[in-house]
Amino acid sequence: MQRRSLITTAFALLALRPATAVAATEASFPFTLTEAEWRARLSPEAYAVLREEDTERAFTSPLNDEKRAGMFHCAGCDQAVFAAEHKFDSGTGWPSFWQEVPGAVGFREDRSFFMTRTEEHCSNCGGHLGHVFDDGPEPTGKRHCINGVALRFQPAAA
Ligand SMILES: [Zn+2]
Repeated sequence: MQRRSLITTAFALLALRPATAVAATEASFPFTLTEAEWRARLSPEAYAVLREEDTERAFTSPLNDEKRAGMFHCAGCDQAVFAAEHKFDSGTGWPSFWQEVPGAVGFREDRSFFMTRTEEHCSNCGGHLGHVFDDGPEPTGKRHCINGVALRFQPAAA
């Protein structure tokens, strides 16, 4: 009897484990696609950044010099993530913003490359956008350092 209840307990724990692990590691986002669908939808460069947290080479994005009024959208799901009026020239070679569209990005601690940085991603699809630092201009003091390949610029209607 005792042995049987032990076995039952063991099976119950085994049954619980996968569900718990998935819930802990795989954040769910409103917009989800399969790996194959993401690969079909994105350029190889955008896939590497958005889905694998790669970083584009500095000074390679045409969006560095984008100065028109408009909105920057997530290249993964097209959610508006940064407004052009919050863009500034950080001199780093990556499009930089001092404020995000409220609620449009999520943050998490990133301990890769022997540093502790704050990673930021699209709140709708989970796509990696870049990192945020505390050396930005007023009024927020934040510097959102964003991969241009993770963005799509939509100029404001003239
Ligand atoms: Zn997105």
